[in-house]
Amino acid sequence: MPHPALAAGAHPFPHVGLIGIAGMAPWEIEFLLDEAEAWVGRTATGHPLAGLTQINAFFENSTRTLLSFEIAGKRLGADVVNLGIATSSLKKGETLLDTALTLNAMRPDCLVIRHGASGAVGLIAAKVDCPVLNAGDGRHEHPTQALLDALTIRRRKGRIEGLRVAICGDILHSRVARSNFLALTALGAEVRAVAPPTLLPAAIEAFGVSAFTDMDKGLAGADVVMMLRLQTERMDGAYVPSAREYFRFYGLTEARLAHAAADVLVMHPGPMNRGVEIDGAIADDLVRSAVTEQVEMGVAVRMACLDVLTRKRRNVPGWPA
Ligand code: ASP
Repeated sequence: MPHPALAAGAHPFPHVGLIGIAGMAPWEIEFLLDEAEAWVGRTATGHPLAGLTQINAFFENSTRTLLSFEIAGKRLGADVVNLGIATSSLKKGETLLDTALTLNAMRPDCLVIRHGASGAVGLIAAKVDCPVLNAGDGRHEHPTQALLDALTIRRRKGRIEGLRVAICGDILHSRVARSNFLALTALGAEVRAVAPPTLLPAAIEAFGVSAFTDMDKGLAGADVVMMLRLQTERMDGAYVPSAREYFRFYGLTEARLAHAAADVLVMHPGPMNRGVEIDGAIADDLVRSAVTEQVEMGVAVRMACLDVLTRKRRNVPGWPA
């Protein structure tokens, strides 16, 4: 069934690639969530991406994102090739743009890129001829993570609008936080940023979120609590006195979670550091924790994004030019 926006003659997703949630209209985000919903628990029938080449170029470590993009592409029938950091010529001094031109010369049908520098993926996207999907660039954006988080919330809570979502931890270095602020506020949630003062970016309110440095106050009445890891690889110097001290004031414990709504949903993008930002028992509580469900939704969301962004080059009937 065509999406209602298609029936009305409007383009449901006019973007060439997926660099960030920034610039996406709420109905475009919802369109991708609806498309992803259709892939949940389902492998592709008919392999719509058969004959297409998907290159995953990850210049920074990844477990969940790389694997799920690979599984998503394979389930759709694409030929998936992975370029690992350890084996790439960046190590030999090649510039990012030369790497981009090299990848482009292989004539891929889509590129999935993760890079440690904010803005690097957008830069590459401007130099290549195929759709580029941002799998995380520095502290800038991680759009498919925000989409899978939104899908997880929507499925568990039945809605996003009006929910109180507390995003807690190392906001300063987190691309997950940025993409989630953009997506969840666009979808009508009331979003809070909860962090020690050293890990709260200046002008955080510009994202349309409210800031809290007291964890108990930030969690008060929250419907969803999303915990973030201390991104030590992006820190130059010490932002917290010690991991033990951090857990004492900002770790998610039973006592702290008691301030949230009785039916609170606990989320974490992974990798988790048990005993640092989250008590392991809470993460393992299948009633409240959606951590493994988030991973499952990641495959569905990435299938949807790969499918939607290659429709134009596949000349899918009914898909506007
Ligand atoms: N996996 C997420 C990311 O790539 C979160 C994290 O690394 O803490 O940003």
